[in-house]
Amino acid sequence: MVRAALLWCVLGLWTAEAVAQQDPAKVQIQTQELAPGVYMLVGDGGNIGVSAGADGIFLIDDQFAPLTEKIRAALARLQPGPVRFVFNTHWHGDHTGGNENFGGAGALIVAHDGVRARLSREQTLMGQRIAPAPAVALPVVTFGADLSFHLNGDVIQALHVAHAHTDGDAILRFERANVLHMGDTYLSGMYPFIDTSSGGSLEGLIAAAERGLALSDARTRIIPGHGPLSDRAGLERYRDMLLTVRDRARAALAAGQTREKWIASRPTADLDASWGYGFMKPEVFLGLVWDSLAGTGR
Ligand SMILES: [Zn+2]
Repeated sequence: MVRAALLWCVLGLWTAEAVAQQDPAKVQIQTQELAPGVYMLVGDGGNIGVSAGADGIFLIDDQFAPLTEKIRAALARLQPGPVRFVFNTHWHGDHTGGNENFGGAGALIVAHDGVRARLSREQTLMGQRIAPAPAVALPVVTFGADLSFHLNGDVIQALHVAHAHTDGDAILRFERANVLHMGDTYLSGMYPFIDTSSGGSLEGLIAAAERGLALSDARTRIIPGHGPLSDRAGLERYRDMLLTVRDRARAALAAGQTREKWIASRPTADLDASWGYGFMKPEVFLGLVWDSLAGTGR
């Protein structure tokens, strides 16, 4: 928790509201039903997706370790029994912090190969060192391109999207329930965090948004990594915003602009009112956009 909170502080991502949620004793887990047996849980950290039914509980991301008991209590109101699967959309601590608890209690942890690789070794994220995760917190089943779970009367497809938020992202699609979980490739109403030090890229984020759009229709309920529940129209606006920012950054690069001067010119002043009040401050986002396009982010 301290590690994760420190990380968000270093990134300058905390809003006053988010800081107030650091104390796990004060966090409440909110449950929203999206389709029969499919839920979104919001607490502190990445939004959680749930499939609950006769085949057991399938959890997408598990927030921070101090919240595990509250998450279990929220799940117990949906379905008795332990969590059977935990799926990590990527390696960041606000999505994998509960792995040690759930893995220790017998849940099978599943993720893209890149998630296990990064959790297994010390990472440096925006200058901050993050220790390797204990063995019990590591994904036991990993995959490269895609994987399907046949559970609770649905097919849950996990699809890897390359070099997007990180190099180990997966988006999940509930075929029958028509629900998508985008992980941190999509933050609803906020600029995204491009973790260039973990292999993330702006082009990959745009491709992930395109993939999400291709998998959705007007009725699809879309769980973002952070922010309120969304839909195809919201994801489309986000994709369009990313394209606009990319084109402006490309033009500045082509004109020989420097990183500092470009950011100081407030090139997204018209977009900041809609997108700049979430986790990512505009200047931090623009720096990462620049690094990604200029190839200077690793
Ligand atoms: Zn993340």
